[in-house]
Amino acid sequence: MKAREFDPRRLDVRAFAKDAGELAGHWPLAGFERLRDLLAAADGTPPTGLVQWSARGDEVPVRGAAAQVWLHLVAGADLPLVCQRCLQPMVEPLAIERRFQFVADEAAAAALDAEAEHDVLVFARELDLHALLEDELLLELPLVPRHASCPEPLPALVRDEAELPVENPFAALAALRRGQG
Ligand SMILES: [Zn+2]
Repeated sequence: MKAREFDPRRLDVRAFAKDAGELAGHWPLAGFERLRDLLAAADGTPPTGLVQWSARGDEVPVRGAAAQVWLHLVAGADLPLVCQRCLQPMVEPLAIERRFQFVADEAAAAALDAEAEHDVLVFARELDLHALLEDELLLELPLVPRHASCPEPLPALVRDEAELPVENPFAALAALRRGQG
């Protein structure tokens, strides 16, 4: 029997799981429309770079009930962001590994979601893996991106009064005040 071909943008998750299907690829960052607006290229050009991803379907037999349908999603990307401390460009490496269980309806999803550690989704006729991956990338995006350690020297900040030139009137004033104290 010939293996079915699966389209990641219109994925039949049930069949994908039944076949223990596997898909992998890379999608350009610029093609994720919601994510793209949050990424920063210093000159305003669309972000370059790719999101590497792979997906695997898995059907888990359950005694006396319908088999569970699972989707494993793994992805990685280097996201161009702007550091909120020094306002210089930075690269945030994101790695995603998720397990989704698919269920018949919202009620079943709500019941499971309350206790499950994995994500629970409701079956769609065709799952758009691109959109699901974008959701996950958005969730992982740091709220306040920051370098682990900013490049030195910080451009717009003078951090140490001692570095001010002597003729700076404020430094002179500060020295005067210290002398009086
Ligand atoms: Zn920084």
